[in-house]
Amino acid sequence: MLRFKQYYRVETIDEAYELNQKKANHIMAGNLWLRQQNRTIGGVIDLSDLGLDQIEETEDAFVIGAMVTLRQIECSEALAQYLNGAARESVRHIVGVQFRNLATVGGSLYGRYGFSDVLTLFLALGAKVRLYHTGEVELADYVDQKLDRDVLEAVILPKKVEGCSYQCIRNSETDFPVLTCCMAKVNGVYQGTIGARPGRAVLFRDETGLLKDGINEESVAAFADYVRTHVVTGSNYRAGAEYRRKMSGVLTKRALMAIKEGGLN
Ligand SMILES: Cc1cc2nc3c(=O)[nH]c(=O)nc-3n(C[C@H](O)[C@H](O)[C@H](O)COP(=O)(O)OP(=O)(O)OC[C@H]3O[C@@H](n4cnc5c(N)ncnc54)[C@H](O)[C@@H]3O)c2cc1C
Repeated sequence: MLRFKQYYRVETIDEAYELNQKKANHIMAGNLWLRQQNRTIGGVIDLSDLGLDQIEETEDAFVIGAMVTLRQIECSEALAQYLNGAARESVRHIVGVQFRNLATVGGSLYGRYGFSDVLTLFLALGAKVRLYHTGEVELADYVDQKLDRDVLEAVILPKKVEGCSYQCIRNSETDFPVLTCCMAKVNGVYQGTIGARPGRAVLFRDETGLLKDGINEESVAAFADYVRTHVVTGSNYRAGAEYRRKMSGVLTKRALMAIKEGGLN
């Protein structure tokens, strides 16, 4: 059980940032991952009063506050329409509705968990994170940075996505995924992620132009083969490395064909 000595309900992000510089303090979002630890910490910093629980749509981006829950992502009509249902698909298998009513986007991306469906999705879509101290950082860079004591304010999803599809494999519904995949056409170029390898999601850009003439059987097979041969997979009690490797090609194909069909996942 997690125990803490102080509870800070902050009124400004600056206050949250200052408190978070003390090693003993930790930001508490949905408190679903944090509470798994069995230790006593100094204080928890609650961001609930900062208005970070909104999904805002501007002309050129979606700005998703760090305290937006996975359920809000799942139920957002604007995101569903823009992403062909991919955002909904990425979170709907995570534990259950009550859980998704608490788990946040900020907690999910800050943690950069290997199993993360949320990271798999946003990384493929070319998202950025807005950090209070550092400013805006490409998620593709953030994913490899060490966990630090900055405050994640929001996820910015530039409106450059022209198609996307989310796919995953789970041994049983609501379990952690065995493998995750999101393919997207961003700013005219195809890119995709493979996550739960079981390591953190990795991004594959179509740098050699395998899909430059569009999605057809040959180009899909070639890109799926590229992903399958380059992805680094591992084994755990959910699946073996070789199975994951093979399925990375399968999910890539499925996702690309779903984009071609243009329908919901
Ligand atoms: C049993 C279980 C099953 C799960 N299954 C899945 C799954 O299948 N797929 C999936 O994608 N995810 C899964 N998750 C992860 C879950 O969806 C959330 O990502 C996770 O709980 C963290 O979100 P939270 O809001 O609970 O964050 P918390 O637990 O409150 O915080 C997590 C970490 O992030 C830090 N943090 C939180 N918010 C911020 C911020 N704004 N700025 C800086 N640091 C911050 C905290 O200090 C802490 O270190 C699972 C989690 C659990 C406990």
